[in-house]
Amino acid sequence: MSSGIENEAKGDEKVITTMCNSHCGGCCMLKVHVREGVITRVETDDGVEPQLRACLKGRAYRQRVYAPDRLLYPLRRIGERGEGKCERISWDEALETVAGELTRVKDTYGSEAIFVQQSAGDIVSLNNPLPIMKVLSLAGGFSTSWGLYSFEQAVYAELATLGTLDGSGRDDILNSRLIILWACDPESTVAHTNTTWYLTQAKEKGIKIVTVDPRYTDTAAVFSDQWIPIVPGTDCAMMIAMAYVMIKENLQDQDFLDTYTLGFDQFKAYVVGDEDGIPKTPQWAEAITSVQASTIELLAREYATIKPAALITGIGPGRTAYGEQYHRAALTLAAMTGNIGRSGGSAGVKSWMSVSTLPALKKGVLMMDVPNPVVKGFPSDLKTFLPARAKFYKGVGNVVTAKVPDALLRGKAGGYPADYKMLFIVNTNFPNQYLNLNKAVAALRKMEFVVTLEQFMTPGAKWADIVLPTCTFMERNDVTESERLTYFGFQNKCIEPLGESKSHFQIAKELAAKLGLSQFKDMTDEGVLRDVVVKGSAISDYDNFKKNPVYRVYPVDRPYVAFRKQIEDPENNPFPTPSGKIEIYSQQLADLNDPSLPPVPKYIIAWESPRDPLTQKYPLQLITLHPRRRAHTQGETIPWLRETQVQGVQLNPADAMPRGIANGEIVKVFNDRGATILPAIVTKRIKKGVVAILEGAWYNPDENGVDRGGGPNVLTKDVPSPGGGYVTNSCLVQVEKA
Ligand code: SF4
Repeated sequence: MSSGIENEAKGDEKVITTMCNSHCGGCCMLKVHVREGVITRVETDDGVEPQLRACLKGRAYRQRVYAPDRLLYPLRRIGERGEGKCERISWDEALETVAGELTRVKDTYGSEAIFVQQSAGDIVSLNNPLPIMKVLSLAGGFSTSWGLYSFEQAVYAELATLGTLDGSGRDDILNSRLIILWACDPESTVAHTNTTWYLTQAKEKGIKIVTVDPRYTDTAAVFSDQWIPIVPGTDCAMMIAMAYVMIKENLQDQDFLDTYTLGFDQFKAYVVGDEDGIPKTPQWAEAITSVQASTIELLAREYATIKPAALITGIGPGRTAYGEQYHRAALTLAAMTGNIGRSGGSAGVKSWMSVSTLPALKKGVLMMDVPNPVVKGFPSDLKTFLPARAKFYKGVGNVVTAKVPDALLRGKAGGYPADYKMLFIVNTNFPNQYLNLNKAVAALRKMEFVVTLEQFMTPGAKWADIVLPTCTFMERNDVTESERLTYFGFQNKCIEPLGESKSHFQIAKELAAKLGLSQFKDMTDEGVLRDVVVKGSAISDYDNFKKNPVYRVYPVDRPYVAFRKQIEDPENNPFPTPSGKIEIYSQQLADLNDPSLPPVPKYIIAWESPRDPLTQKYPLQLITLHPRRRAHTQGETIPWLRETQVQGVQLNPADAMPRGIANGEIVKVFNDRGATILPAIVTKRIKKGVVAILEGAWYNPDENGVDRGGGPNVLTKDVPSPGGGYVTNSCLVQVEKA
């Protein structure tokens, strides 16, 4: 089935349909008007419903393609690292320099001294970091990291509890009778294409919507019938108290628990206090979360009795010191209410649906058929091992992402597998997006050579010795997919690459040639997309897919329901856990004998939370938000996007007044790790004691190392959660007038 939308010609203007997937979780349609090789206008889907309508980032993409500050030629650093002073050089010289440094570092220190730090960037099948990684694998290998920046805690929880990663389609919320948006703000962050469109319809249908969040979000303002403010990092305590109410009032779906789950009784013993003498009552939770006991009781009763109900878990509460417990508790509540595997039920999960749902595109095939000789087996610091997880991460990398700056800085002396000398950056803004950013900067100073692929002179590019300019997705072909709606999209090339910018694939090919590798010589992007990525997948007609660039795997009137077959036919479809059931109690976790990863979900007091003695010095809790105006750091300099949101720090009037801070005043947010300067946004829409900053602002240090860019990562702590997740939302700060 396809969207039926074809590329069309209007006089001397062509309208080319392509798909945006700018690492925001979305996958939206763009109709790009091109005249004489120049993009004149960008529209979005206006065809049959459900339209895949783009957000303002997609609609402003023409400004990004033609941005005056776009990098169009290879650059060599001529100033100090971090200054951003560069000179134009040829591709030949740039790639010879990179190939020469790769060879020098390998010959001098061994391949493990080459560290590739990468992330997703645009979520696509070909022009991602994998072709570069394949070339480097063929050239002897490299060190790299493992672990997702965004929701590693959710991955951990879901693999431990469900044995796999899967989630229902967003469109299935229309079959819910209650929607709980737990720290989920799609009005600002999109949180997958069309989420707000489905919420709009849900509201029109009279489905009750509840938001649990420290902030009165735009989503809460537009859609929610109820806002429940909560102390950040205490979400798990509230969920466990909800379980207490259900147990005490015998509201749990016992048949579901008996049939599909393992270990409810052990969880119950913890919840009612048989295990530790502390009943996890709503009053117990009120003292921790600040949510009134009566509110917790009411939500627990509603979630247990209004069926089906969707618990949509955002990822912010997971990015806390023990965030795995929040996701494990959400999955347990979904099981207690019988909302797993049922239409309208959601499943309390965060992760992708595509892992087990979408008939595979051969995404990553270019990488997987060439093992990286440096990284064998399991990550060496994956101490919190689970078999399902080890399979997920087998051979991926040696260093957990949260510790990359520390690893680069300290190497073997810090207990890491190697001393790192060369940093190869692909699709990540290092140091900008790294915890304890000042440590990442120190690591950059230590590197003998740094190379990056970039489109703009980002903070990361300013530290590089060689910058290789990449083209945008409008300048090359690729295949993408939706995370929460079951379709694939074709990214059609709309114009030739600007200047001398090149696609990731082309850069990999040319680097391979400089390294004397012949494997890529005859490959073309179209050839790889047709014969490697798409061939053998659910898409049988590549040319038709290119012409009609939305391929729906499931009909729009039959939303995908995760785990339906495990629930409808459990005998023949066990969950892929050791027991074949949903593991509320996990023996794998019990075997770890690690109190920070208990066998049943438990509330664990986070470090740098209101109960930390550090609050004497730094009394405010910092949380970081995904911006509307950027996709992480992408789009920071685009004028239309900058107009839409102030890069400020949100704080409650009750916190602003004693500090003499007025709305709009420039303030300093600081702790022992660093300081950032930005305007105050004084608003009652954030809980007292909490401050919030948009992540992704470009690091702009002054002569004292204070970030004038207003980003939060000079403040965050570079300690992973027990399961290896990024911890951005356990962070104490102080705020004062600048
Ligand atoms: S940035 Fe994300 S939400 Fe916006 S148009 Fe692109 S894919 Fe869609």
